[in-house]
Amino acid sequence: MLNKLLLSIRVPRRLLGGINRYLHEIPLSKDRYGIKRAPFSSITDKDIQHFQNILPVQNQILLGPEETTGYNRDYFRYVRGLGTIVLKPRTTNEVSAILGHCNKRRLAVSIFGGNTGVCGGSIPVFDEIIVSMELMNRIEAIDEYSGILVCQSGCVLEQLEEQLSAKRMIMPLDLGSKGSCQLGGNLATNAGGIRLMRYGNLHGSVLGLEAVIADGTVIDLMSNFKKDNTGYHLKRMFIGSEGTLGVITRVAIACPTATTTQNVLFLGMESYEAVLRTFLESKIRLGEILTSCELIDRVSLEVTVEYLKHAAPIGNFPFYMLLETTGNKKEHDDEKVREFLEFAIGRGIVADGVLACEPSKVEKLWQLRERIPAATYSNNFCLTYDLSLPLERFYDIVPAMRERVGHLVKVVCGFGHIGDSNIHLNIAGDVLTNEVQQLVDPFVYEFSRKLNGSVSAEHGIGLLKPKYLSYSKSAEAIALMKQLKVMMDPKAILNPYKVLV
Ligand code: ZN
Repeated sequence: MLNKLLLSIRVPRRLLGGINRYLHEIPLSKDRYGIKRAPFSSITDKDIQHFQNILPVQNQILLGPEETTGYNRDYFRYVRGLGTIVLKPRTTNEVSAILGHCNKRRLAVSIFGGNTGVCGGSIPVFDEIIVSMELMNRIEAIDEYSGILVCQSGCVLEQLEEQLSAKRMIMPLDLGSKGSCQLGGNLATNAGGIRLMRYGNLHGSVLGLEAVIADGTVIDLMSNFKKDNTGYHLKRMFIGSEGTLGVITRVAIACPTATTTQNVLFLGMESYEAVLRTFLESKIRLGEILTSCELIDRVSLEVTVEYLKHAAPIGNFPFYMLLETTGNKKEHDDEKVREFLEFAIGRGIVADGVLACEPSKVEKLWQLRERIPAATYSNNFCLTYDLSLPLERFYDIVPAMRERVGHLVKVVCGFGHIGDSNIHLNIAGDVLTNEVQQLVDPFVYEFSRKLNGSVSAEHGIGLLKPKYLSYSKSAEAIALMKQLKVMMDPKAILNPYKVLV
């Protein structure tokens, strides 16, 4: 059944709420993951006094357990640290002064963004000094001619999107967590999201950045040009470095022109082969207007429908896909979408589907994809994996995992960005037993290694995956990463215990 075409506009979407929603205490990361404190100094009253001189404005420093609790635990309940002080710089110079002092004193630092990370990368493990970027939220320039946004790194993604929309521009990335996540954190983790298929990843769209390295030196890599081949592309080192090489303070990013039409298709398929055919045909027939191509398996839809208390948009199928098109000429887009659907349904590739372009209906369909993580995280525990896998074997991990732990947990589901070969695997239930944990890890990572996949397509390594880095990187590459770390942060004060161990 196809819904009647209606006028569409872009709508904001949210996944995450606040950071304090915990009903029960999270174990300390140091105990849960068996981590020993490195020989860093401990903060003294003299250090606090020094920070007060650097950050003179009220509310730039938080002290004590009550004030710092929300900065010591992640939204997903994986990690909890023991940080006792939060510093909130407003300028690059303040970041520089903070790091300069920490480096001199060998005080470890943990860098905190919007707290939407999934691998514990932004939460302290012990008493690291928490540097929160939330006050560095100034937009410096939006140039509609060049399409470039220049801003501080603590800007929230959704707020940037709102400011850009006045100039008919959009951010090149869109995430379920856009209401909370910060651009600096997006860069530090090289976040992907649901527009990557159309607009590419941040290595392409970030034109320049400014970062402060461990000794407080400001590295100015800002550029307002798409083309700049003057020497090594050092900005790329900071993108995806997860706060281990420096603190990103400013960003220049290329932003696409806004589109004015939107269609969302929610389709059902009888087999994974039909999913692949649909993906291929959507690329061929929708071409330049195809923005997102997402896979949702039956279990993912079931748990999300139940969580949202929505009715499923179509009947039961083993696989669903959510396709979004955006463009500038409605008749043109509608015609393409209609022809694609006629072909896919006519050939029996797509078994059923709905089409929406009216904002509330679009929003509702997108929720069925974007709220899958929230639905699975509403269980007592949820293990989440994000793998890049070759498309022909993309979904095999899900039935393999069901066979291993399906009888021991409530949910094993697969969903994600099939347009980018990136699957999310979530395993959720009431009690996370050692048996389940051991049946899942390292099987998931070994599965990925056998297929030359990536153990982290878009979430990063953080605290949770350093021991699996070698599954996706050669020994020589890891050795070079370690050399860079020593060169740029010789006292290893930046985000210790993360990425490299
Ligand atoms: Zn994702």
